[in-house]
Amino acid sequence: MENEKNEAQVLREQLFPENKHAGLRMSEEALAACGAFCDGYTAFLNCCKTEREAAAFFTKQLEAKGYVPFTPGMTLKAGDKVYLNNRRKSVILATIGTAPITDGVRLCAAHIDSPRLDLKQHPLYEDNEIGFFKTHYYGGIKKYQWTAMPLSLHGVVIRKDGTSVEVRIGEDAGDPVFCITDLLPHLAGEQMKRTLANGIKGEELNIVIGSMPFRTDKGSELVKLRLMQILNEKYGITDADFISAELEAVPAFRAADVGFDRSLIGAYGHDDRVCAYPAFMASLDTPAPVHTSVVILTDKEETGSDGNTGLRSSYLKYFLYDLADCFGANGRAVMRASKCLSADVNAGFDPTFSDVLEKNNCAYLNHGVCVTKFTGARGKSGTSDASAEYVGEVRRILDAGDVIWQTGELGKVDIGGGGTVAAYIANLDIDTIDIGVPVLSMHAPFELVAKTDVYAAYRAFKVFLEA
Ligand code: MN
Ligand code: MN
Repeated sequence: MENEKNEAQVLREQLFPENKHAGLRMSEEALAACGAFCDGYTAFLNCCKTEREAAAFFTKQLEAKGYVPFTPGMTLKAGDKVYLNNRRKSVILATIGTAPITDGVRLCAAHIDSPRLDLKQHPLYEDNEIGFFKTHYYGGIKKYQWTAMPLSLHGVVIRKDGTSVEVRIGEDAGDPVFCITDLLPHLAGEQMKRTLANGIKGEELNIVIGSMPFRTDKGSELVKLRLMQILNEKYGITDADFISAELEAVPAFRAADVGFDRSLIGAYGHDDRVCAYPAFMASLDTPAPVHTSVVILTDKEETGSDGNTGLRSSYLKYFLYDLADCFGANGRAVMRASKCLSADVNAGFDPTFSDVLEKNNCAYLNHGVCVTKFTGARGKSGTSDASAEYVGEVRRILDAGDVIWQTGELGKVDIGGGGTVAAYIANLDIDTIDIGVPVLSMHAPFELVAKTDVYAAYRAFKVFLEA
């Protein structure tokens, strides 16, 4: 019998279950749902390139869906939906479950800040009749990647009188864009001898913003004067107002399908909007959970989570305490009973740079959302390391929900490493594990993810919040 499996084949399938490519596992219906979901994700990417824009987008969606601002002491019952917008840079949403709050909450945490170039507080200067903005990079970037490509500017300026103006320029058709120059190869002999890390230095990340002078016979720095005049006319600001501004330069290009088969999405800032958006949508699509669901979309992960909009601060803890108080429950008890998916991206296996990953323990594109038991560096330094018991529980939830998932860690043991917000949430006495979408070219201006993995992330958060 040709089709009959021999004993070894049967045993192998039983003992070594295979994690096949999602394209071989998903039904036509699931692939269509995946495509539709990713269209929504791509639209989100194009309208939200910064933490402020993402926080505003989520808040607007929540209000449209009937979520109300959370206030301590409010009366809450099953099915009620509340949110908290923390300083316009992070958002918490919660849907009250049917189970008592003392059974704990189901928490998904993702971050909405991405590596970028912030303007300095005295950014504007003129050098040899060209106008520039000085920048200070935010998060871990390879600086050479940020030159010679179009940049847009996003953010807010608080004027002297306390009024504010939002800036978003370089995104719409007809908008001007901005750019950091690089040296022509003909004259780059000395530069090419620099290490890659120093190929472009921090103080060389200067953005070209103009070159026409204010028309007069008198005075110097007339390009700078003309530029400030334009900014004053457009935004009502003076040079001193940059001191109280947060302006962020990000890639001006749009998210796009990548590949002849359109199986990938290329975009700025997948890390970590590729987890934030699926977690958010999963929560919206779970209106009647058993356990109270909480999704936190936080800021400041890329600079180490410090600050009052980052997860090293107490704002999540205080929210959970206040939520417990609404039910007359003990906040500590609620946290101890809670469970969390720390949703952040992981490095996908890149055949061009395969040396840095260990093939049996890394994430592959199109093999599903990646569960990571521990992060950290060297001897697991800086990780919360989820317990075997909790990994087992998450594994059962994902399998029961038919979620396509894999497991992997960030690189070979001694190569490097990295952290997420998992440790800060676990430190609140909450069971926490990392899970997220594999990314190629992480932290580059144009990162790649596979559509099936984005959809798998959404499915994972959904079954977790429903459990
Ligand atoms: Mn991240
Ligand atoms: Mn990151």
